[in-house]
Amino acid sequence: MAERKPIESWLTDMDGVLMHEGIPVPGADSFIKRLRESGKPFLVLTNNSMYTPRDLHARLARIGLDVPVRNIWTSALATAQFLADQRPNGTAYAIGEAGLTTALHDIGYVLTDADPDYVVLGETRTYSFEALTKAIRLINNGARFIATNPDETGPSAEGALPATGSVAALITKATGRDPYFVGKPNPLMMRAGLDAIGAHSETSAMIGDRMDTDVLAGLEAGMETFLVLTGLTRPEEIDLHPFRPSRVVDSIADLVELV
Ligand SMILES: [Mg+2]
Repeated sequence: MAERKPIESWLTDMDGVLMHEGIPVPGADSFIKRLRESGKPFLVLTNNSMYTPRDLHARLARIGLDVPVRNIWTSALATAQFLADQRPNGTAYAIGEAGLTTALHDIGYVLTDADPDYVVLGETRTYSFEALTKAIRLINNGARFIATNPDETGPSAEGALPATGSVAALITKATGRDPYFVGKPNPLMMRAGLDAIGAHSETSAMIGDRMDTDVLAGLEAGMETFLVLTGLTRPEEIDLHPFRPSRVVDSIADLVELV
């Protein structure tokens, strides 16, 4: 295996790496502090498109993690960036929360249900039959179908929550059309993030708690990959995948020294 170049910039997943079920993972605060002191470009990533970077900054701050707004990268931001590149100043019918609608407004999109270029589906806890019906009919009439992330479920203290991927499946079933998913494991999310901080994949690392999203996306984007065991992946599951991370560590605390 070719020797990798030193790591000059870091991308890290949020849930399962920095925090787990609302509680900070030990070492996450030291890791972020070290990153900020180093001056190295970094991003905290999430496939959750519900919140704006400012919302997430506040949520992280409440548990003692001080991540600047500019260092937060969500699937909603990546989706908005993708749409801005594909069709500048377009129109969209969005099903989602402020994280998505703010991102779309910020890139100059008009949100409308009158013959939009796109139907954009994101994470929300307030799906309505009416909104889904509208989305289905707009797609039938030619709107392109985009979804922020393919996650089928999300975590909660009480058990699984249906997430964007599950609702997308409902729309797909009704229309016969698959969405284009922008979030992880699509390496587009990583490449757009690297571009946003002026980083290059050959000198960047991705940290995550999932093989099928974080590690896969990092790998496909050409980055060094670290799997932490503080989230969803159990050690015995790693070898069930046809690919492997560059390194497996117990937690983010083991990576502080590498920054
Ligand atoms: Mg995670």
